[in-house]
Amino acid sequence: MPELQKYTVAIIGGGPAGLMAAEVLIAQGVQVDLYDAMPSVGRKFLLAGKGGMNLTHTEAEPAFVARYGARAEQIAPILQDFNPEALRAWVHELGIPTFVGTSGRVFPTDMKAAPLLRAWLKRLRDAGVRFHMRHRWLGWDDAGQLHFSTPEQELHIKPDAVVLALGGASWARLGSDGKWLATLEQQGIHSAPLQPANCGFEVAWSAHFRERYAGQPIKPVIATYLDQQGQLQQRQGEFVISESGVEGSLIYALSSALREQINSTGSATLTLDLAPGKSAERVLEEVSYPRGSRSMASHLQSKVGIAGVKAGLLHEYLTKEEYTQPAKLAAAIKAVPLQLLAARPIDEAISSAGGVLFEALDAQLMARSKPGVFCAGEMLDWEAPTGGYLLTACFASGRTAGQGALDWLRAQA
Ligand SMILES: Cc1cc2nc3c(=O)[nH]c(=O)nc-3n(C[C@H](O)[C@H](O)[C@H](O)COP(=O)(O)OP(=O)(O)OC[C@H]3O[C@@H](n4cnc5c(N)ncnc54)[C@H](O)[C@@H]3O)c2cc1C
Repeated sequence: MPELQKYTVAIIGGGPAGLMAAEVLIAQGVQVDLYDAMPSVGRKFLLAGKGGMNLTHTEAEPAFVARYGARAEQIAPILQDFNPEALRAWVHELGIPTFVGTSGRVFPTDMKAAPLLRAWLKRLRDAGVRFHMRHRWLGWDDAGQLHFSTPEQELHIKPDAVVLALGGASWARLGSDGKWLATLEQQGIHSAPLQPANCGFEVAWSAHFRERYAGQPIKPVIATYLDQQGQLQQRQGEFVISESGVEGSLIYALSSALREQINSTGSATLTLDLAPGKSAERVLEEVSYPRGSRSMASHLQSKVGIAGVKAGLLHEYLTKEEYTQPAKLAAAIKAVPLQLLAARPIDEAISSAGGVLFEALDAQLMARSKPGVFCAGEMLDWEAPTGGYLLTACFASGRTAGQGALDWLRAQA
């Protein structure tokens, strides 16, 4: 340990990934300076706590790792060092109890992020991490030093190693704006373009439907989607009609495949089953049942349980005439197509896909073209659904990068 005391590591970005790297480094006696552009660290982490902080997931390892899709192979070794169980134990050690929800998701017992962040920051400060807020990193200067702007001055420093944990590009007002991408590109650290993940999509609603139903949930519903590999993806859940289209858990869960489909063909179609509890035959039977003088709307409500926004959706798709034809109506109830035209902007997304390519980094997340510079967290080229997978990979990759920086410093010594 004493051999590392003479070294200084700069961590840029105080989200979960950067803070975790700081923890690993300070524990080995390195001098750690953490810089962040914002007035305080962990702003996105705190926001994540607003809707109930989902830290990780209890599903078994192969299924857990598979959530990282095309990047499962690169994320697997990162998780080996800090798997969901280790993460949970670490949270408990900070004095924060957790519980497992019915879906297997792990939450702090109070569902909040603030107590966890407070306890963690205290521990880091007590251990000697020095925090430098309102320090915006601008890149490297001609002398190869890190260049920051602060409200008072420009700062140029040359630490012994650097961990970049700058986040993706969603919710830019919380600090991560993706501007690092061009800076790293200039240094030969290549990235895939940042794209929205766990995001909403645009639908060409009629003005009437938008005005009447924006904000309303569609539930329960089964969404079916034929992915680019020709595999049928099917999920039951709920989503919300927005002013511009659709958003919410069911949509986010399918968002990666839908986004890719739109990227390659210009649109994607979800097929919705608005009566998941009833077979197509049963729906047809009930819709065809003589309705006497009752309107189709009240007939649908009493026989199939379809009213409000679900009925509105059928009106969006069917002509007035088709709406009165039992066969057409029943078919639409079981399979109404919803054409998605574009992903909503990345700033609104929960997370980002794309980022620094694993090919540009070694196994310890050090940039091949810039030795001594490590990358961690959401700025790396992986994506995952919601369910705690995002934070788990951010924490774990922060550890890998921190450990990588330690090993690199040892090698220098
Ligand atoms: C609404 C919402 C809810 C979420 N809920 C969950 C959830 O329940 N579970 C889950 O697993 N995940 C959730 N997430 C995702 C999760 O919060 C992020 O994946 C995670 O915070 C990313 O961590 P990070 O450390 O990589 O980056 P960030 O947390 O984005 O931190 C990056 C930091 O870098 C700083 N920075 C950026 N550029 C510069 C620069 N040039 N100079 C200096 N500093 C800079 C930023 O100010 C920021 O503090 C949610 C996200 C959102 C938006």
